[in-house]
Amino acid sequence: MHIAVCVKAVPSTTEVKMDPETHTIVRDGRASVINPFDATALEVALAIKDARSAAGERTRVSVMSMGIPDTERLLRDCIARGADDALLLSDRAFAGADTLATTYALSCGISQLDEAVDLIVCGKMAVDGDTAQIGPELAGAFEMPCITDVQEQPEVCGRTLRARRACDGGRETVEVDLPAVITVAKDAAQLRMPSIPGVLAAETAPVAVKTAADVGADTARTGLAGSPTQVVRSFVPERSQEAVAIEGSPAEQAAALAALIEEGCR
Ligand code: FAD
Repeated sequence: MHIAVCVKAVPSTTEVKMDPETHTIVRDGRASVINPFDATALEVALAIKDARSAAGERTRVSVMSMGIPDTERLLRDCIARGADDALLLSDRAFAGADTLATTYALSCGISQLDEAVDLIVCGKMAVDGDTAQIGPELAGAFEMPCITDVQEQPEVCGRTLRARRACDGGRETVEVDLPAVITVAKDAAQLRMPSIPGVLAAETAPVAVKTAADVGADTARTGLAGSPTQVVRSFVPERSQEAVAIEGSPAEQAAALAALIEEGCR
């Protein structure tokens, strides 16, 4: 079984810097961490690998990311924690991608892996872009079934994956045939610590760094050029600590509150 885990490098701080011209995040490698949801996604994949390996079934976990060259540091950390190998898609042509262009780049990378993928594990969402679209879009690109918002460690039995996911009324159990895509909630698991043999292995482990040309991506479909969604304005909202006491009857208070909200939205 071959599992691909999608890992995004996100700013480690809430003080996110935006490029005033492209309205994309200024990615500073030194201040990047693994998206917390992707740390969970990695643990979910490693736990599947553990269970299958105990049953004598070979399972490989590949981590992959589209990001700046420094992202290699984070991918090596994933290997130290138990992933087998890593692929980094890094090229100026990938910069400024919206979710469609990101999905296209990742799907080119996944298609170029040397072994077909049985399961793609993504975080439910990235804490910077926050769209939660990449997992379902990857499922669409590969025409695979998708289980979103997985809340607990899923089970793999033969070619069937069973998972508990959040739904409007609470939780439901869903079964799909592999190959499939799942996206996981942050509390579904806790990423294990790196082991000493893992840290040593990570130093020399294969991390393939590939450009758009290497994975056969059409650069008209990648990065800013390939993104139909453009972020036209972004800003850090101003927060006021000011408290306002509203007097009067419930109807008067409601009207005054509505006026205050309306004024704040202008
Ligand atoms: P999500 O879909 O939230 O991520 C889900 C999972 O996909 C992650 O947990 C991870 O497993 C995987 N994943 C995501 N990105 C990568 C990656 N680079 N490498 C590996 N795995 C990855 N784009 C739009 O299309 N529409 C918008 O409205 C939009 N608004 C934005 C607003 C702001 C303020 C910013 C900064 C960006 C916005 N973007 C938008 C761009 C969006 O952040 C990027 O397209 C990004 O590359 C992927 O989307 P996401 O971060 O929302 O990922």
